[in-house]
Amino acid sequence: MKTCSFKDLESYPTMQRVIEQEEKNTMVVASAGNTARAFAHVSSITGLPLLLVVPENAIEKLWIPAGSTSSICVAAVQGDYYDAISIASHITEKEGFVPEGGARNVARRDGMGTVMLDATLTMKRLPDHYFQAVGSGTGGIAAWEAAMRLKMDGRYGDELPQLHIAQNLPCAPLIQLHESVPVDPKCPEGMYDTVLFNRKPPYAVGGGVRDALEATGGDLYGITNEEAEEARLLFEELEGIDIMNSAAVATAALIKAVRNTKVSKSDLIMLNITGGGVKGALKELATIRLEPDLVVSPDDSEAPAKIIKKTKDKFE
Ligand SMILES: *Cc1c(COP(=O)(O)O)cnc(C)c1O
Repeated sequence: MKTCSFKDLESYPTMQRVIEQEEKNTMVVASAGNTARAFAHVSSITGLPLLLVVPENAIEKLWIPAGSTSSICVAAVQGDYYDAISIASHITEKEGFVPEGGARNVARRDGMGTVMLDATLTMKRLPDHYFQAVGSGTGGIAAWEAAMRLKMDGRYGDELPQLHIAQNLPCAPLIQLHESVPVDPKCPEGMYDTVLFNRKPPYAVGGGVRDALEATGGDLYGITNEEAEEARLLFEELEGIDIMNSAAVATAALIKAVRNTKVSKSDLIMLNITGGGVKGALKELATIRLEPDLVVSPDDSEAPAKIIKKTKDKFE
C-alpha cells in the first residue's frame, strides 16, 4: 500500500466502480490526510478526475508516489476539516460532481473487507477477535461484512470474530453514542491521531457500528494518548517497523484486552495495523507533493463556485 494506510484498499475499488458505472462526474474527496493521498494516488495512476478539498494546514501531508497530477485538482480551505467537508458537500450537490460516498459506498467497504479475507485465508479459519482503531467505524463494519460471507462459505468456521474497536479519549464520539460519555468540546484538538475523529459516525443506522458490535458481541475501547504512545514504541521495537498513530491506538486496545482477559492465549487474534511504514516509504519511494490549485476562505459564500470553475478549467 504505497500511501501507507488501508485507505489504499478503498480508493482502488471506488475508482474501479466509477469506471464500471461509466460515471462521467468528477469525484470529490474531502480529507485531511490518508484518504486524500490514497485517492490522489489512484487518480494519478488511472487519470480519472479527482477534486480534493483539504484544510490548508494539511497540504504538507499530501505526498504521493511520483507520477502525473494532471487529473487532480486541489482546493485548500483556510479552515479546519469541517470547513472542507462543508464546502465539498456544496460542490457535490452540483451537476458534474459526485461524492466518494463514505461508509455507504459498498466499494469502500468491500475494499477494506479484503483485510479480513486475507487474514482468514492465511490463518485457515476466521479469527476469534478483530482489533481496529476507528473514526467512522467503516473498517469495523467492513470486517464484519466480510466475516459473514466467510461464515456462510462454511470452510472457515461458524463463529463471527468479535469486533474490538478503539477510539482516542476524550475525543471518542462512538463511545459517547454507545455509553453516553461526553466528547470534550475542544476535540479534535490534542488528539493522538485526528484521523480517528468523525462527528457523525454511522452508528445507529441499519448495518452500522451498533449492529456490528451487537452481532459479534463486540466491544469499544477508549485509549488515552499515553497508552497509545506506549503501544507505538512497543510495536516499533518488537516488530521493527513504524506504525501510524491510529494503529498504535488499536495496539493499545489489544494490550488492554489482554490485561482485562477479554482474549485468551489460545484465541486467534487479528490486529489491523491500518497504517505504517511511512519512514521507509519516504526513504525508498520517489514521492511528490501536491500543490493547491486554489486557496479559498470558508467565509466566502462563492468558495464552492470558485472551486467548480477552477476544476472545470483544469480538466477541460
Ligand atoms: C481512516 C483510518 C482509520 C479509521 O478508519 P475507519 O473508517 O473508521 O474504519 C484508522 N487508521 C488509519 C490509518 C486510517 O487512515
